[in-house]
Amino acid sequence: TDFKSDKQPTWCPGCGDFGTMNGMMKALAETGNDPDNTFVVAGIGCSGKIGTYMHSYALHGVHGRALPVGTGVKMARPDIEVMVAGGDGDGYSIGAGHFVHAVRRNVDMTYVVMDNRIYGLTKGQASPTSREDFETSTSPDGPKQPPVNPHALALASGATFIAQSFSSDALRHQEIIQKAVEHDGFGFVNVYSPCVTFNDVDTYDYFRDSLVDLKEADHDPSDRDAAKEAILDSDKEYQGIFYQDENSVPYHEQHGVDEDMSVLPDGAPEGATDLVREFY
Ligand code: SF4
Repeated sequence: TDFKSDKQPTWCPGCGDFGTMNGMMKALAETGNDPDNTFVVAGIGCSGKIGTYMHSYALHGVHGRALPVGTGVKMARPDIEVMVAGGDGDGYSIGAGHFVHAVRRNVDMTYVVMDNRIYGLTKGQASPTSREDFETSTSPDGPKQPPVNPHALALASGATFIAQSFSSDALRHQEIIQKAVEHDGFGFVNVYSPCVTFNDVDTYDYFRDSLVDLKEADHDPSDRDAAKEAILDSDKEYQGIFYQDENSVPYHEQHGVDEDMSVLPDGAPEGATDLVREFY
């Protein structure tokens, strides 16, 4: 199945978002999905354009608010595949509150964060994942505060699937996204997706040289303590699955709803389910 739309991406040549998107499209196809049952929700930023380039249902939402929209789609239509995409600024700054709550609800969707450690669309300001000493036009001496550790935030919020991939390691990236899609619950993947225009520190070469694959490090993703140790290890850059709870029960199942039904709360106005479905 082809998830590629006929729109030509306007990302800078060489941007990591190309590889991130290719892996997402292949993972969706490999897991038996097709454009008719897939809904992609994107935030704002370079990464936010992804819904236009993917051949599926899509919504280019409001800055930092892609996760609540994705949650709404999944609540109204538990039977369809929901993938939410955004950048590090969108997800861990303005969207940080939503991230925590989407994680703890364990809604059955995949969240892909294209992390380039910079705001690219607005031409290179420090983002929540920028290094402390990363010099930008708005922080000439660096932001002087430690970066957000999104995996630690996810673990502390009760995540059931936490992973890291690299857009340029195509097969491994696809494999990791695929596992997130197959996961019963909230599949969170932070993807190192280099910005070739505004970040000359966190480059392809940097990630290629520094990434350690958890698979090769004999990491056991079912071991939460081991996950915590790897996530808090600030000396290393890892790729792979940090943590997966194999007994995860997604939100709609926790509430006794099967895939054919809406999970709108008791007391919702009569016909609301049909209205929501019509809207989407
Ligand atoms: Fe990609 Fe950076 Fe260009 Fe945005 S500015 S499209 S993140 S390379």
